[in-house]
Amino acid sequence: MKILVSSCLLGEKVRYSGSSSISSIDDMELFDKILASNEIFPICPEVISGLPIPREPAEQIDNKVITKSNIDLTKEFNFGAKKALDICLENSIEVALLKSKSPSCGTRVVYDGTFSSNLIEGLGVTAKLLNKHSIKLFDETQLVELNDFLNKK
Ligand code: SF4
Repeated sequence: MKILVSSCLLGEKVRYSGSSSISSIDDMELFDKILASNEIFPICPEVISGLPIPREPAEQIDNKVITKSNIDLTKEFNFGAKKALDICLENSIEVALLKSKSPSCGTRVVYDGTFSSNLIEGLGVTAKLLNKHSIKLFDETQLVELNDFLNKK
């Protein structure tokens, strides 16, 4: 199957801090198996929107995305989300493996907008748009569930 994947999970150093997210993957063997047996479409919605590496951390507050120093990046985050959706629609991608907790990619919980490491239920901007278009979302802590989903297809 075709899978959209957060590029930081693939080892690309695109996070706000300039690092990758590969260390957040617990089961590397299963992760590698999924990558090898499916067609992977990497994307970093924040970088594709033109934001630099490294960059200031940002969190969602209401319907906006704001950096720690109060710069409004809502437009950039929405642009990145639209690009991710375009890739899915153009390539008939029905499933995405996204980085947990990110203000773009988080699929279940996100930071609460206070920059104090508090998590709340919710989706990142990209995850929200993909979900709205019925793309099935998993994060890197759900590789077993993703593998089961792929095997049933
Ligand atoms: S926007 Fe997504 S792909 Fe890019 S660094 Fe953040 S979590 Fe990773």
